Amino acid sequence: MTAAHGARLLIVGPQGSGKGTQGIRIADAYGIPAISTGDMFRAAIASKSDLGTKVTEIIQAGNLVPDELTTAVVRERLSQTDAAHGFLLDGYPRNLGQVGDLDAFLAARGDELDAVIELVVPRDESIERLTLRAQEQGRTDDTEQVIANRLAIYERETAPILKVYRDRGLVDDVDGVGSLDTVFSRITHALAARGILPA
Ligand code: ADP
Repeated sequence: MTAAHGARLLIVGPQGSGKGTQGIRIADAYGIPAISTGDMFRAAIASKSDLGTKVTEIIQAGNLVPDELTTAVVRERLSQTDAAHGFLLDGYPRNLGQVGDLDAFLAARGDELDAVIELVVPRDESIERLTLRAQEQGRTDDTEQVIANRLAIYERETAPILKVYRDRGLVDDVDGVGSLDTVFSRITHALAARGILPA
C-alpha cells in the first residue's frame, strides 16, 4: 500500500487536539483530500444553504448533527472523483452508528480504511488550546459551556469508536503534545510503519 494507490485515513482526537491542522498537512503530504465534516457544516451555515439552516442551532449548542444527515453529506463528498483513491476524514465517524455507515459505504465500493490516527492530548491541554482558539477565531461553539458539552460527547460517543478500530488493528496512537512539526513527524512515522508513504 503506497500513496500511489492513495490512502484511506481517519484522524480522531478530542476538541483542541489539533486534528484539523494536522489533517490538512497529512492530506497535502499524501496527495489526498482532507474532508472535515465540521468545515463542511460551517461552510453550509455561512452560505445559508438548506443544510446550513438545518444544522445551525445544533452546532451552536455543540450537539451532534443527526447521523442520517451527516452520513448523507459524507457519502456525497466521498463520491466525488478526488476521493476515489484516498481521503483523510476529520470529524467523521463520530459515533458507532457512523462507523457502521462508513463501513457500509466503503464495502459497497470494495474499499477499506488503511489507518486511524488517534491524536492523544491530555484534557487540560486541549481545554487550554480551545480557550486560546476561542479568543483568536471567535468560533460560536467555543464558549466554555459548549466546549464542555462537546468534550463530554467526545468521551461518551466518539472515544468508543476507537475500540472498534483498535480491534481491527487500524489505530496508531500519536502523542499530540509538541510542535506542529514534531506531531506531524510522529504521524508520518506511524504511517510509514504501515507502508503508507507520502506522495
Ligand atoms: P470539534 O471537533 O472541535 O468539535 P468540528 O469542526 O469537528 O469541531 O465539529 C463542529 C461541530 O460540527 C460539532 O460540534 C457537531 O455539531 C458538528 N459535527 C461535525 N462532525 C460531525 C459528525 N460526524 N456527526 C455529527 N455532528 C458533527
